[in-house]
Amino acid sequence: MSKVEAFLTQQEEKEIISAIRTAEKNTSGEIRIHIESTSKVDHYERALEVFHLLKMDNTKESNAVLIYVAVHDKKFVIYGDKGINNVVDDSFWNTTKNVMQNHFKSGYFKQGIVDGILKAGEELKDHFPWQLNDEDELSNEISKG
Ligand code: CA
Ligand code: CA
Repeated sequence: MSKVEAFLTQQEEKEIISAIRTAEKNTSGEIRIHIESTSKVDHYERALEVFHLLKMDNTKESNAVLIYVAVHDKKFVIYGDKGINNVVDDSFWNTTKNVMQNHFKSGYFKQGIVDGILKAGEELKDHFPWQLNDEDELSNEISKG
């Protein structure tokens, strides 16, 4: 078993999953969280790998977002699929990153993730609004490495 269980209590996990549900009420985009202790490879590369492992490249509008956190390394990556990158510029995730970074710096790990999810949902809303026939294409459960 990895040490990841120690990073979040069950209650905190519930809050994170609930934040994903809330965020996905605003947008057709799909948000997933992956948490692990550390990565041997570059964190961006690792996020990309996880993105594919979780089959997040299979959404209809290619608009899934992975928030990858390596807790021990104190690193995180926000990785959005090509459907998003096609319509936004490189600074798109900066506000979300800042929200997360500020909480993490203060030691508020769970809150950083929750607010990051909610912010990502708001940012996605303009480009990928929620639609009546929306499907929950990707699990809202936290993925752990
Ligand atoms: Ca959806
Ligand atoms: Ca989902």
